[in-house]
Amino acid sequence: MSQTRPVSLPPCRALVVGAGLTGCLAALALARAGWVVVVVDPLQRDTLLSRRRAYALSQSSLALLQQLGLAAALASHLWGFDQLTLQANRGRSQARIHHSDLPPDTPPAIGWIAEHRPVMTTLLGHLDQSPAVTLKLGLLDGGPSSPGGAGGAEDHAWDLVVAADGHGSRTRQTMGVHCWGWRYDQSCITVQVTLQGGDSTRAWEVFRDEGPLAVLPMGQGRAQVVWSMSRRRAVTLTAMDPGGFSRALAAVLPKGVELMAVCSTPQAFPVGLQLAQRFQRDNVLLLGEAAHCCHPLGGQGLNLCWRDVGCLHVLACRVGKGQRSINWLLHRYGRQRWLDTVATLLVTDGLLRLFTPGRWTPVRWLLAPLQRFSLAVLDRWGPLRSLVLQAMVYGWGNHQRCSVPQSYASRLSQATPVGRR
Ligand SMILES: Cc1cc2nc3c(=O)[nH]c(=O)nc-3n(C[C@H](O)[C@H](O)[C@H](O)COP(=O)(O)OP(=O)(O)OC[C@H]3O[C@@H](n4cnc5c(N)ncnc54)[C@H](O)[C@@H]3O)c2cc1C
Repeated sequence: MSQTRPVSLPPCRALVVGAGLTGCLAALALARAGWVVVVVDPLQRDTLLSRRRAYALSQSSLALLQQLGLAAALASHLWGFDQLTLQANRGRSQARIHHSDLPPDTPPAIGWIAEHRPVMTTLLGHLDQSPAVTLKLGLLDGGPSSPGGAGGAEDHAWDLVVAADGHGSRTRQTMGVHCWGWRYDQSCITVQVTLQGGDSTRAWEVFRDEGPLAVLPMGQGRAQVVWSMSRRRAVTLTAMDPGGFSRALAAVLPKGVELMAVCSTPQAFPVGLQLAQRFQRDNVLLLGEAAHCCHPLGGQGLNLCWRDVGCLHVLACRVGKGQRSINWLLHRYGRQRWLDTVATLLVTDGLLRLFTPGRWTPVRWLLAPLQRFSLAVLDRWGPLRSLVLQAMVYGWGNHQRCSVPQSYASRLSQATPVGRR
């Protein structure tokens, strides 16, 4: 995994701006490729760890964790799901996708639910232990104009600046890179709950008139709910007393799934689609949400960010070994990340418009038969399920498949009793 740069050449130096999940993983990927890395973030460690959220990690994310030597450390924090049910038309149309729709040699799950804290703790722990990485957390301004930050005169001290400072990226603004995109008239509420009924390894994506609702199993009856709705309703719901919120949530859960308790404070986030008009300028690369973000529908957000990191890792290894130049990396990265990013954003947006047309009522009448038809075809036609599932879990383009060692695969199987379709 670690690459050795010829002793005659000094190691490449990178500044990573932002210590979110993308920035931390990018720093580790660069360090594993033999680079010397400094990571800056204005937030303190406790704040970075405190986000109450869970992510649906896909096969592409697991493959990268495996490649960077992190999969074993995270295995006990991942809860696999091997079934995914898509539902629309108030439960009348549905498509069931199963792990067996993937090629036979894949690890035994469609995806894995991971809570923010253990993932972040593991990444920060590995960064602390890496002699090639310096973490500078809690700087009042770790951003573009600060000493050592991206965009200032000090840029030249770095071979590469990786901007992973989130969707409002100051680095991107300082570079003068504009974005395409729009805000949806929707917010998304995330909350952790305990449930009764349903299958402990089944995830749900329910397309409701007001927006999609995802139920992601986390083991022992716990689940993360990601519930989209109009911004106004999200404000009303998050202001409700716990009893009122529980009743509202219980009413929208899939049939057969019963709410036992709400375990965290519901939090609402505005959602939108955003794509930077370019991913690179001078020696600065945009990574993760600094380059793109999409609706949480389908749980693609973090996986897309980590596929950026996977691409950076492969390119940085070649530069680290002295086989290629930094310029080659910068241009190659931009070219390699377009297809996957644009396709993922367009598909996510298309699905949202197909299944949640919102207030555009005449279109809704036209779309209802299309929704029924598409789910029925998906449910009945295996090759289509396989195609859709592979795009969801590996992304678009040439991505490395996951080959987990036997010990890890058996640990995942214990966490993921493979159910029947
Ligand atoms: C409601 C919701 C639910 C979601 N659910 C899922 C899911 O189920 N699965 C999934 O894959 N994804 C999901 N996502 C998306 C996922 O959370 C994001 O894709 C991911 O957090 C992006 O990580 P990031 O590191 O790129 O950005 P961020 O997490 O925003 O991190 C950016 C970091 O940069 C730092 N920073 C900011 N400015 C500066 C500066 N000037 N200098 C230095 N540092 C700076 C910030 O402090 C922060 O630490 C969801 C998103 C939302 C809103």
